[in-house]
Amino acid sequence: MDHINGLFEFIKHSPSAYHTVNTVKGLLDSEGYTELYESDRWKLTVGGRYYVIRNGTSIIAFRTSREARGFMITASHSDSPTFRVKTTPESVGAYTRLEVEKYGGMIYYTWLDRPLSVAGRVVVRTPEGIESRLVNLNRDLLTIPSLAIHLNRGVNEGAKFNPAKDLLPLYSSSTEKGTFIGTIARAVGVEPRDVLSHDLFLYNRDEGRRIGKDGEFILCPRLDDLGCVFASTVAFLNSSEGNSVPVLAVFDNEEVGSETKQGAASTFLRDVLLRISGSEQSLSVALENSFMVSADNAHAKHPAYPEMSDPDNAPVLNGGVVVKYNAAQRYTTDGLSDSIFRTVCQRAGVKVQTYCNRADLPGGSTLGSIANTKVSVPTVDIGLPQLAMHSANETAGAHDIDSMISALTEFYSSSMLKKGSRVYF
Ligand SMILES: [Zn+2]
Repeated sequence: MDHINGLFEFIKHSPSAYHTVNTVKGLLDSEGYTELYESDRWKLTVGGRYYVIRNGTSIIAFRTSREARGFMITASHSDSPTFRVKTTPESVGAYTRLEVEKYGGMIYYTWLDRPLSVAGRVVVRTPEGIESRLVNLNRDLLTIPSLAIHLNRGVNEGAKFNPAKDLLPLYSSSTEKGTFIGTIARAVGVEPRDVLSHDLFLYNRDEGRRIGKDGEFILCPRLDDLGCVFASTVAFLNSSEGNSVPVLAVFDNEEVGSETKQGAASTFLRDVLLRISGSEQSLSVALENSFMVSADNAHAKHPAYPEMSDPDNAPVLNGGVVVKYNAAQRYTTDGLSDSIFRTVCQRAGVKVQTYCNRADLPGGSTLGSIANTKVSVPTVDIGLPQLAMHSANETAGAHDIDSMISALTEFYSSSMLKKGSRVYF
């Protein structure tokens, strides 16, 4: 089945990490999952379906089972590189621009000359107390204009940008201060004086589209990592009951290092698994029979720059799911976890490709090794092959989305049993 339209809808409704979690929550709600709160004591029932959200931008869902030996966990991330709107948002000159600072490592020039908008969380004062509300202005609102080539003759030899000066989006002809908070207040139905604070981010208004001779490629914002968040969520919901607890984990802040209260380096996953297990000892036993798939995208071989890839370990678009290796353990894959994941893919009839950095180039990092410092289980780092990672629009293979969903559905339906040097999976 082709899931591309579902993916595009998912990404359209996920313009910020807050919205990503809300979109996943909506899918879980429609399948009868119950929200748990960390502030409550939990009474879990066998066969129960649950999820828990931390700080609005990370979510963990799971199903309990009487026969469960361990956890089958996927981890992906809800955030993407973007610009955060500052607390005092207006920069007034000839026009009003929004004061922003960069969040994560985006390719600057891809953000210029395109329609942008604002989404995130607003914290408001109500008669009942302080309340967080989601906001998406959901219209073409802003742009970051280029400097004309006539005024910048060297632009095609390599453009340089100062984010404090060159990348503030154009907002209004009016130079009156305070109008932006007025716009935000109206959007969430309060008076401007009741907006206490906000966590607002820019987003690219483009929607996903199919390209290529037979529509075999997709061009879409935020494929890193919403492609994997979408595939994990669909697989989690489609998977059949096995002898394990399937766990869907989506973490915020991967793009800024994960070391936050809701990031992959936080206690969130361990806290949830401990509550499911009931005791430290039960958790330790369960973790011995658990496995984690850290799902975050991988660089495909670029048609114009093939020399930037390892000659023998470089994936291509539509070549299947990618297993990522790194000797320095920025990717946590090892021989055992790779073997287990390849077995899963074989069962699902899914092709597997390998990614290694060129030996003389450093690569990126992701969730797996970071999450392992809190929850130590065999883990494989995988991803969808893609081009233009961290561009405002990224390119991937349409068929790889289906491959990822099939592989993760098989994974979630599996279970693991470790006996000495033998692993039954
Ligand atoms: Zn990523």
